[in-house]
Amino acid sequence: MKLANYIGGRRVDPVEDQWLDSYNPSTGEVSHQVPSSTAVDVDNAVAAAGSAFPDWAATPAGERAAVLNRIADLLEQKLELFAEAESSDQGKPVSLARGVDIPRACTNFRFFAGAVIHQEDAVHMTEGSALNYTHRKPVGVAGLISPWNLPLYLLTWKIAPALAVGNTAVCKPSELTSLTAYMLTEVFDEAGLPPGVCNMVFGAGPQAGAALVAHPDVPLISFTGGTATATSIIRDSAPYFKKLGLELGGKNANIIFADADLDNCIPTTVRSSFANQGEICLCGSRIFVQRPVYEEFLERFTQAAGELVVGDPKDPDTNLGALVSAAHRDKVESYISLAGREGGTVILGGNRPGVDPDLRGGYYLEPTVITGLTPSCRVMTEEIFGPVVTVTPFDTAQEAVAYANMTRYGLSGTVWTTDLNRGHQVAQAMDAGVIWVNTWLLRDLRTPFGGMKASGVGREGGKHSLDFYTETQNICIKQEPLF
Ligand code: NAD
Repeated sequence: MKLANYIGGRRVDPVEDQWLDSYNPSTGEVSHQVPSSTAVDVDNAVAAAGSAFPDWAATPAGERAAVLNRIADLLEQKLELFAEAESSDQGKPVSLARGVDIPRACTNFRFFAGAVIHQEDAVHMTEGSALNYTHRKPVGVAGLISPWNLPLYLLTWKIAPALAVGNTAVCKPSELTSLTAYMLTEVFDEAGLPPGVCNMVFGAGPQAGAALVAHPDVPLISFTGGTATATSIIRDSAPYFKKLGLELGGKNANIIFADADLDNCIPTTVRSSFANQGEICLCGSRIFVQRPVYEEFLERFTQAAGELVVGDPKDPDTNLGALVSAAHRDKVESYISLAGREGGTVILGGNRPGVDPDLRGGYYLEPTVITGLTPSCRVMTEEIFGPVVTVTPFDTAQEAVAYANMTRYGLSGTVWTTDLNRGHQVAQAMDAGVIWVNTWLLRDLRTPFGGMKASGVGREGGKHSLDFYTETQNICIKQEPLF
């Protein structure tokens, strides 16, 4: 099967007729081909989005919201189809796609459909002599670039707010996971989204993605992906003064104090370490445990992690499916080897598990736990983005915070303690954009989401996304005294 680009409401092959093989990570077999789009395809998509922009921007917010709600309804009806496709394209268990990824994609459309019709604007009176009001307008054609780990979930987290406020869009999903984005274009047609409002151009980042970033008629780029890629995006977009939203890598810390409720902490920490094969930017890959409970935590955590089932993503009992690609598994394994050279000990996993014969070409890896490393070493400061965690003891809160902040990343963190005073203070001292206390991945979509330091620039979520996808003008009207 060959996917096609979606430009101006039509499915079109890439102009230069180049294609990329897309693999099913659970078997290692080619499952379909993805257009390897070039600057010409991007240019056509931007032109289509540009032509659709004036009408879509002028469409009342309530009508735009109604289309987004129809998209959510249709996605919900097709949940099973999308969940299976997401799993076969990305390697994650179907149960995870069914329970998290696809429902969240529906929620993204519903959330921003609601948010845009409840938007409020500020008015400021200047001591009776002038009235200032804020006028918002959409930015134009939004360039939306998304990664492979939560393919539909993260792409729709961009599309929904961008379209809700009246922009049109050109999307460039990850070349590794384009399938559900392609299926979404069928939903767009069915929902009555006008042609050209949301276009998809598939292909490689340095080719199709870079052409979108450098396109002069795309004034906004929203990018989620790796920190290294973001440096090219900043550089390539700089001459055009684009609005940039960057959601990047993480190396998130879990700080577990001796008074933590371990019965809650351990199962949640197993999930925060290994959900989606550890390929969630918010996974906690560094676990710091206060010394009095270090041994108990390690034993119980390792036992629970050792019981996780790795294998066929279609099997409802599977906890971890396959990593996204052979190259990515190689990268993760290289860090496991490096851990040995840096003085660490692999106390659980570290190997490719045995799987059914028909899955032997898949990219599976056991949940892996490493101890004995120093917090400043490479394994503990660089993003691995796989089912690999380190566990390290600490004595004081100060020491734990210092360890947590010892990386260039600052996306998220977790604190486990029954002392709420400590929970607040440690959370506030951590250099990360999202901190959970006694939980993980509990998201209220109205809250600001995004990273500090090399984990990103800008915030998404609720009003933050609506602000990012609009331009605001202050209009000041002079008032002459009448009385
Ligand atoms: P990546 O940076 O390799 O690719 C992301 C997207 O950018 C893909 O669509 C890719 O094709 C495109 N791209 C690559 N080079 C480009 C270029 N030069 N110009 C324009 N586009 C380009 O990231 P990935 O490997 O797909 O995703 C994993 C990374 O994403 C991890 O670092 C992870 O932490 C991060 N991530 C962050 C968040 C967050 O919210 N902060 C969420 C999910 C994933």
